[in-house]
Amino acid sequence: MKRKSYSQSLADLKSRGIRLTPQRQVILQYLKETEAHPTAEQVYQKIGEQFPGISLATVYNTLNMLKELGVIRELSYGDVSSRYDGNDSEHAHLVCEHCGQVLDIATPPEEAVITQNIQQAGFTVSSYRLEYYGTCGSCVQSTPYQKDHAS
Ligand SMILES: [Zn+2]
Ligand SMILES: [Zn+2]
Repeated sequence: MKRKSYSQSLADLKSRGIRLTPQRQVILQYLKETEAHPTAEQVYQKIGEQFPGISLATVYNTLNMLKELGVIRELSYGDVSSRYDGNDSEHAHLVCEHCGQVLDIATPPEEAVITQNIQQAGFTVSSYRLEYYGTCGSCVQSTPYQKDHAS
């Protein structure tokens, strides 16, 4: 399944009889058009530039609603703030432990993820979340440790 665009998602919601207020539309549009996987606070700051009156509670409510409608995803990280993902297709993440950015990558083939071991355990997979933790390309280049070793 390919990532749905903002207008596709909006049309999808409309066909299900769901109408979004202008504020909610802007939140959905922002998430659909960014690759950044922002936190709720970051969405709030961004949307606040257009709707100065918007409250953080409205942002949270909207994110929850959009998540329940299946047009965005929430990525929770334990104690750290959740991030929100406008990419509703099946994909994996590269999470940089230095700068915190989250990049989308295509998922490995299903055989690599849903292995025989899982089937042997009698387990049926309904969904999964695959994340690789490490250092992104630009952090590798700017890490002093790496430079020392390169010279
Ligand atoms: Zn990084
Ligand atoms: Zn993503």
